[in-house]
Amino acid sequence: FARCFATVGITKKDRVQVTPGYGLWTAGIGFQAGVELLGAMTIPTGPGNTEKQLEMMLDLKSTVLCATSSYALLLGEEIQRRGIKDQIHLKIGIFGSERWGEKMRAKIEEYLGIETFDIYGLTEIYGPGIGIDCPRHEGIHFWSDHLLFEIIDPVSGKQLPIGEQGELVITTLTKEGMPLLRYRTHDITRIIPEFCSCGSPYPMIDRVLGRTDDMIKVKGVNIYPGQIDHVLRITEGCGGEYQIHLSKVQGKDYMVIKAEMEPGCDAGTVSERLRRNIKNRIGILTDVEIVPLGNLGRTEKKSRRVFDRRYE
Ligand SMILES: [Zn+2]
Repeated sequence: FARCFATVGITKKDRVQVTPGYGLWTAGIGFQAGVELLGAMTIPTGPGNTEKQLEMMLDLKSTVLCATSSYALLLGEEIQRRGIKDQIHLKIGIFGSERWGEKMRAKIEEYLGIETFDIYGLTEIYGPGIGIDCPRHEGIHFWSDHLLFEIIDPVSGKQLPIGEQGELVITTLTKEGMPLLRYRTHDITRIIPEFCSCGSPYPMIDRVLGRTDDMIKVKGVNIYPGQIDHVLRITEGCGGEYQIHLSKVQGKDYMVIKAEMEPGCDAGTVSERLRRNIKNRIGILTDVEIVPLGNLGRTEKKSRRVFDRRYE
């Protein structure tokens, strides 16, 4: 993780507020170990208690925020609401552990006045910090001196050529405590064939598009929640948060996408635009429900976005 911090320009002069949880898993302590190795200062707040988070952020002049993207958005909205953006000292945000779209990223960057970076990691393999995007934001660098990344077809198990999208499989090369051979992550991504323009020798993967186990099949069409992120991004007037609700109506799959609308837009127009973009990009007709910005819930943990009630 220390290498992740260094990649995005964090130095030992930084003060890093760590909001992921501490306990018998790798989240909070994974961040902290990286901060300590780098020689910077940790502010180990752990999750929750927004009041305390903001107090620490102001008093101790945190310069880096580590969080889930939904919690960063929640803190950002609170800072916006209180009008204290000019009193905080944050410059960098390191977020991960759930998917987040471009619109959500733009909002967080605007509310907190920071540049944001995506980390990748999983508990079974060191925890968070086995990859991060650099200031060029061309992909997520991964540490190929410690890890071998392969992409396979999740059904046949066969390795796919570099550049093709499939399931990420990881082999640890230097880990001694719990080495893993060709560990299936269930994360869908691809290895980017080109090297980054930053000159780093470390190769890159794309942002995770979804998981093999959260792919949903609606009316025979395979949908990854990441595709909905993408459609929201290109739909004028839509916010970045969404929910997918699935049910059965007269034996047939019925899908409703709930999405947030930017203030000052017309709900009918935004809804029609979103319906059309989903049809064009994903290939299915769906109902759309537009709600005001901030209505779809913000949590400090990973937000639940798919509600599948078809088999209840
Ligand atoms: Zn780079």
